[in-house]
Amino acid sequence: MHTKMLINGELVEGADAPLAVIDPATGEEIVSVRQADDAQLDRAVRSAHEAFESYSKTTPAQRAALLQDIAGVIEQNAEELASLESQNVGKPWPSALDDEMPLTLDTFRFFAGAARTMAGVAAGEYVPGHTSLIRRDPIGPVAAIAPWNYPLMMAAWKLAAPLAAGCSVVLKPSEVTPLSTLRLGQFLADVVPKGVINIVHGIGTSTGARLINAEGIEAVSITGSPATGSAAMGAAARQMRQVHVELGGKAPVIVYEDADIDKLVATLRATAFFNAGQDCAQPCRLLVASKIYERVVSALAEAATTIKVGAPRAHGTEMGPLVTEVHRQRVAGFVDRARAYAEVVTGGTVEPGGGFFYSPTVVADVDHHAEIATQEMFGPVISVSRFTPDQDPVAIANATRYGLASSLWTRDSGRAMEASSRLRYGFTWVNTHGVATPEMPWAAMKGSGHGCDMSVFALDAYTSVRHVMLAHG
Ligand code: NAD
Repeated sequence: MHTKMLINGELVEGADAPLAVIDPATGEEIVSVRQADDAQLDRAVRSAHEAFESYSKTTPAQRAALLQDIAGVIEQNAEELASLESQNVGKPWPSALDDEMPLTLDTFRFFAGAARTMAGVAAGEYVPGHTSLIRRDPIGPVAAIAPWNYPLMMAAWKLAAPLAAGCSVVLKPSEVTPLSTLRLGQFLADVVPKGVINIVHGIGTSTGARLINAEGIEAVSITGSPATGSAAMGAAARQMRQVHVELGGKAPVIVYEDADIDKLVATLRATAFFNAGQDCAQPCRLLVASKIYERVVSALAEAATTIKVGAPRAHGTEMGPLVTEVHRQRVAGFVDRARAYAEVVTGGTVEPGGGFFYSPTVVADVDHHAEIATQEMFGPVISVSRFTPDQDPVAIANATRYGLASSLWTRDSGRAMEASSRLRYGFTWVNTHGVATPEMPWAAMKGSGHGCDMSVFALDAYTSVRHVMLAHG
């Protein structure tokens, strides 16, 4: 199995201690991967710095061609990459191949086009006798840090936008799920100019921390937990760097009394338990109008019990294990504490066997301020609360530090527009949830971060706006 890093165009074994990579479906080690030592990490950053000099001068068409080549390599090797992704994260095999790989590919293809859209906004005479130009130039080498839940798609989000903008990158995948990204690095070694992409492996608080603080880095881009986001912002503050953070979420799902309950339940069944609920946009906090509350709870509980939990390659598996035993205990802890104040309608059980399985869970009668309604769990658990006609569900949803995904369910489009205008979330779906496309921003607000991945707006994090003024005389 390939476990080498990509540094300065070369595939190299880490020189520091190995980390075991575990199969979450069995609890057994897949392989152990050596981490980058300090010298290797520093070489990766130096290499990105040197490569920036030439890569940042490439034309948009050249960058677009490179991004298309990367997409081509992923497409040719999609089965192998999806297989690693499925094994390392415990994802059902068809979903790793058919759901995530197309979006991963399309991210590179979209940014191939986006590379050619960048333009300054004005050229003209704002002071008599002087012509001003506004340029958007690549910001510099980027330190990019990815989480474990969608390793390859997150790598795509962290690589495609800076490459489109003309930046070189040092990417660190999660130490829990590095295998598909390391293999991608091996494929990219033949495609990407030396130093434009570097991939290093190691623990967040050591390798990751050294990377985001390294001299020569100009921008830090992190997708991860709020604690990691704070570390990134701290480093950026100390070193005066651009920082882009996409962090945790706790997506509220506001269900008005005129909602299409069948569609709601079918959508939640498909999305809340997708990737075992380990999704920053997971629809996990239901706020339901009291008039239809009982119907929604029973339909949802019934749907959750029909989800087939199993090993990624087992026939018909719809939901795999959680990523680690520690994470499973964390999720179970939330549910166990909730038993004291709410009703676990279905699930709430640790599934037997060596893997880290947990049953699809619905917890009802949850108070709006309860821990299970307000803290990100990142597991296959939905909490359900009711709101009465005199309560404003938008105000309830807004009373949290999270600000990533949200959805509204109503047949009244006026109400949907009014409520969505007041929601303080980076994105709001109406009568659906979880549908993503590279053209549209995956945007964060408040404690969930700022800026966005995907869409042309993602280029903002990797470009500097510059003014050039020419005196006529
Ligand atoms: P995490 O914060 O533990 O780790 C994320 C990455 O940061 C890993 O590569 C880790 O090694 C690294 N890291 C940790 N501490 C660091 C430090 N001090 N300095 C530098 N790097 C450090 O998050 P996770 O458990 O891997 O992922 C789950 C979290 O990610 C959840 O909160 C989830 O909501 C969030 N997430 C957000 C989005 C989004 O688009 N907003 C997408 C996916 C996941």
